Order: sequence, then C-alpha cells, then structure tokens
Amino acid sequence: MSSCLFCKLINREIPSRIVYEDELMLVFHDIKPKAPIHLLLIPKKHIENLLFLTPKDKELIGEMMLKVPLIAKENHLSHFKLLSNNGAYSGQEVFHLHFHLMGNRVP
Ligand code: AMP
Repeated sequence: MSSCLFCKLINREIPSRIVYEDELMLVFHDIKPKAPIHLLLIPKKHIENLLFLTPKDKELIGEMMLKVPLIAKENHLSHFKLLSNNGAYSGQEVFHLHFHLMGNRVP
C-alpha cells in the first residue's frame, strides 16, 4: 500500500534499523523505544491490524509467532512482552499490523 509508512519501510523507501528479514516478515528497532530493547515485527503483506486477518493468513501469523522466541533471543531478550494495538482507540498509530517486542536485556 503506497501511503503506508511500514510498507515504505519494507520497500526501503525510508530507512530503518532492520534486525531480521525473510520472505514473510521484517523486524526492526522502534524509532521511539519505550523499553531498553523495543523491536517491531511486521508482515510484509499489508494487513491493517488483527481485526483484518482472514483464514488465508493462518500460515503467515503462525510463522511470525514461531519466529518471536528466536528473534527475542538473538536480541538479548530471553524475557519479553509482545503487544499489539488494534484500532485507533487502542492506541494504534500505524495501520499496518505490527507486534511490539519489548524488554530489558537479560544477562
Ligand atoms: P502503534 O502505536 O502500536 O501503532 O505503534 C507504532 C510504532 O511505530 C510506534 O512505537 C512508533 O514509535 C513506531 N514508528 C513510527 N515510525 C517509525 C519508523 N520510521 N521507524 C521505526 N518505528 C517507527
């Protein structure tokens, strides 16, 4: 979606600090971190939020969730929070599905 901030980020039209990428998803540092480590996990497919998922997205969401513990560990987050805002009244500001992966570096 051409006007979507995160689609622009996927297409490298705007820069970001990417830590992981595969054919389905991208993971990068949040520009305004609210935790010592704050990453955003996004699908490459433009989906507004969880309310817009369809059964066709089953594999995509499954793959993303399976990658969470691996990405967390690779980024020194053996303990973490995973959060998703869905809809403007929940605090969603960017309308491309994303999961906030946040925590402190665990020694
Ligand atoms: P939400 O409020 O759940 O929609 O979260 C959107 C998140 O995107 C916020 O935590 C922002 O700090 C983050 N954000 C906005 N623009 C960028 C950007 N260009 N690069 C990285 N993170 C961003």
